Amino acid sequence: MRDVIIIGSGPAGWTAAIYAARANLNPLVVASQVEIGGELMNTTEVENFPGFPEAIMGPELMAQMQQQAERFGTEVAYDDATELDLDGDVKRVTLGSGKVEEAKSVIFATGSAYRKLGITREDDLSGHGVSWCATCDGFFFREKTIAVIGGGDSAMEEATFLTKFASKVYLVHRRDEFRASKIMQQRAFDNEKIEVVWNSEVADLQGETALTGIVLRDTVTGDTRELPLDGLFVAIGNDPRTHLVHGKLDLTVDGTIAVDGRSSRTSVPGVFAAGDVIDPSYRQAVTAAASGTVAALDAEHYLAALADVEKAVAVATA
Ligand code: NAP
Repeated sequence: MRDVIIIGSGPAGWTAAIYAARANLNPLVVASQVEIGGELMNTTEVENFPGFPEAIMGPELMAQMQQQAERFGTEVAYDDATELDLDGDVKRVTLGSGKVEEAKSVIFATGSAYRKLGITREDDLSGHGVSWCATCDGFFFREKTIAVIGGGDSAMEEATFLTKFASKVYLVHRRDEFRASKIMQQRAFDNEKIEVVWNSEVADLQGETALTGIVLRDTVTGDTRELPLDGLFVAIGNDPRTHLVHGKLDLTVDGTIAVDGRSSRTSVPGVFAAGDVIDPSYRQAVTAAASGTVAALDAEHYLAALADVEKAVAVATA
């Protein structure tokens, strides 16, 4: 049986793997079938990860983290975890292939998923003008008019990136100030292709088979108006990916997995959680990486204690 299975391949998952592998715990990372590398795979330049003064592309950073984890013996399963059995000393992780992996401990680092607007036909028009990923889909909007929804760093980043392709980018925010960092706000304000639309939310999506525009509602007056568009990028944050552990692990009021103080210990012994899935506030690559470290160290301590108990039982029954 394995010592530890790590579910997730973002900064938290790979960093947990680096630490666990260097502690000779031979971790298996369940890296997902299609979303290997997590959120940073959808990012362009990462300018705030220490050690890269000239910035590094998100996918390159993730590839390097994986290489570093594999260098110390991490195994990788390019598959999704579909079911978890976390009770008892043996944890079972069922993969998409049907294979069941067993381990004494599990580190859950599944990150977070794009938040949706929650309006009619959002899913129908996904891939037909509505997108959550500028780096994936920006290319399709050369010389087009698009809108980005949101007021955080993601919205600033996506809007700025999309001006490489689009002729016009509306940056639509529901309030009259952004929550994004000042430097990223300024970059957006300075970009002449970006026009900020304050106090507005999307009331409706227009277009039969592909998006042709949106209906905006003024959040102050309630007035509505139409805005013709070729594309809409939704960048309104993320929700922790916890669907696999509902009813199995305690969650917080924010919907993140509850952990004990500053540790990664969840409500189930031997199960640890790290990264965005436990973090409602900071959600940075570097904080996720640090959180992965904590989880690996906690798992190591748990396994050492487990080994002590097993030894004591063996002595007592000999
Ligand atoms: P965020 O900071 O939570 O911002 C989400 C934005 O979307 C907020 O402006 C929010 O409006 C708006 N919003 C939420 N729900 C909405 C809805 N239903 N309709 C319309 N607008 C809605 O999320 P984020 O921008 O994805 O950033 C998440 C974390 O990642 C942050 O810590 C951020 O610093 C970090 N990040 C960093 C970088 C970087 O440094 N390069 C890049 C991207 C993200 P309100 O402001 O009114 O709440």
